[in-house]
Amino acid sequence: MGLADFTLKRLAPAAGATTLAAWAGMTTLNDDWDDYLHSSSATSSDNAGGEPEKIVILGSGWAALSALRKCAASNKSVVVVSPRPHFLYTPLLASSSVGTITLRSACEPLRALVESAATKATSATFVRADAREIDVANKKVRATTDSDGMELELSYDKLVIAVGAQPNTFGIPGVQEHGLFLKEAEDSAKLHARLLSNLEKAAALNHQGDKYRAEIDRLLKIVVVGGGPTGVELSAELADFAHNDVAKRYGTDISNRIQIILVEAMPRILAPFDESLANVAKDHLISKGVDVRTGTAVTYVESADVTLAPSTPRNATPEQKSAAAAAAQSEEMGALVWAAGIGARPLVKKLAKSLGQKDMRGLQVDETLKVKGTDGVYAIGDAALSGFAPTAQVAAQQGKHIGRSIRDGMDSKFQYNHAGSLCCLGSDNGIAQLLAPAGSTSFNVWDALGTQAIGKNGDERALTGKPAFVLWRSLYWTKLLSTSSRISLGSDWMRAKLHGRDVVEPVLKRAATLRQPVESFGTELKRNHTIRLVNKTEALATDPVDGKKKKRFWLF
Ligand code: FAD
Ligand code: NAD
Repeated sequence: MGLADFTLKRLAPAAGATTLAAWAGMTTLNDDWDDYLHSSSATSSDNAGGEPEKIVILGSGWAALSALRKCAASNKSVVVVSPRPHFLYTPLLASSSVGTITLRSACEPLRALVESAATKATSATFVRADAREIDVANKKVRATTDSDGMELELSYDKLVIAVGAQPNTFGIPGVQEHGLFLKEAEDSAKLHARLLSNLEKAAALNHQGDKYRAEIDRLLKIVVVGGGPTGVELSAELADFAHNDVAKRYGTDISNRIQIILVEAMPRILAPFDESLANVAKDHLISKGVDVRTGTAVTYVESADVTLAPSTPRNATPEQKSAAAAAAQSEEMGALVWAAGIGARPLVKKLAKSLGQKDMRGLQVDETLKVKGTDGVYAIGDAALSGFAPTAQVAAQQGKHIGRSIRDGMDSKFQYNHAGSLCCLGSDNGIAQLLAPAGSTSFNVWDALGTQAIGKNGDERALTGKPAFVLWRSLYWTKLLSTSSRISLGSDWMRAKLHGRDVVEPVLKRAATLRQPVESFGTELKRNHTIRLVNKTEALATDPVDGKKKKRFWLF
């Protein structure tokens, strides 16, 4: 058999079969077969169905995009309304805030997705605006544009509310003003900037001897509030950052003084996980030097300090409350990250109120995800009170379900398939709680992997350490929306492994340093004879152009 013959008869079919199998495997696993069956051209049945159905989707997150991808079909006119023109891959937020990855890898521009939807639907448009009001009686949505506050009105036949949720401060004084958050891309950039800025300040003060010891300790104290998955993943990333990158770039003199405090009001961290796994995570954090304080609640926040008190049960007596208040203590800190849970957005609360709902945590939906008391309005993801956890997994499945219901013109009961829960504990560590069918006596891959049976009925499996970390990374990598993001994330991970985390302060508007220390690095300022800091009054000189007093520094 000649080479050409061999290629044609053996290699080509084998390659074809492998490609087909991989394609089938991927699409089956992804539950996206219908994308291929419903990819007919937009114009095929437009006229047959009369006026296209007007679909308005509010949001551009997990739930909204899954709905968009499925509902885009002929005879549908789809409008996506969101202030955010990108999709945010939230599981990567914690690692982006310490520079393990760049925000580029976690943000997916919406253009390609909307353009792809437009090839399947009669039309698909993205509008950058904030939905402010929903008039369910007249089927209208009012929205304001981000930039100049223009008001828009959108009419719909079907409305999908997928606006997610926002950080819940529980009305605790000072949190909104002084806390940092981890919900949006800009939160991560702000946190990264604060960490690096505090490190630079601490390093600068450290050159000035023991005088600023207390201030350095304050700058290097990070309080993470909330021992849910967000707070735990962030604390683990912070600890890795301190031990590896800060030690390497700023020296152990600085890294050894970093304090990470994880505060959790409940008796244990990671409520969604089995207690045995939560303990593994807690032990790991403690081994990395994180100060895990359970049964402790944040009660007051100021710009540079936080008040912590023993937490009290919801039905606490006045005596218990005053005992907790008496035991409250303030601590100075350099950054406080509020990861204490989520609450409904104003738009959702407003609609819930107008529908006469008592519970304001989200929109009450029936089993088909239709908002109770409305016609043609659906709520999905974190905006809905559907009885499922506010996770990306739930939001994405609900989005697909609603997208299909709209596409097929038929409401049906939503069924959630839980694949398991994963939590990343920084480099090379993690925990996973995975579903394993109970009662199976035949060969079980989980037994082969040596996993422990956990959960109420023993039908779940625990995976910890490096295998859980590898699972977390591979799963979240494959679930990214585009090849471009996969390449970007892969190279971020590689860069972090080879050269350490990114320590370039994100470009954010920030106030100039008005008093000492002057942030600098390299040779200490006082040993450098080319720079002299002159006092403020001396430095003020009249600008020859505008006549204003300007601050100047002299270089010799
Ligand atoms: P979102 O993804 O928050 O999207 C809401 C969208 O609505 C956004 O585009 C927003 O801009 C838009 N919007 C807001 N207000 C308006 C308005 N007025 N009008 C129009 N649009 C509006 N879940 C997991 O399952 N696994 C994880 O590993 C995981 N990790 C997480 C890590 C972090 C740091 C965080 C914060 C969450 C994590 N979650 C995870 C939870 C998950 O991100 C949420 O459950 C999920 O984002 C909910 O999807 P959603 O579409 O309902 O809301
Ligand atoms: P959460 O609601 O799960 O946890 C918040 C924690 O903060 C709670 O344990 C609560 O007791 C604590 N808390 C509240 N007020 C407090 C106070 N004043 N002082 C101290 N502690 C306080 O919030 P989250 O971790 O942001 O998670 C939100 C959702 O996103 C959850 O559904 C979670 O499962 C999901 N998520 C999943 C992953 C993952 O799967 N890896 C990662 C992040 C988030």
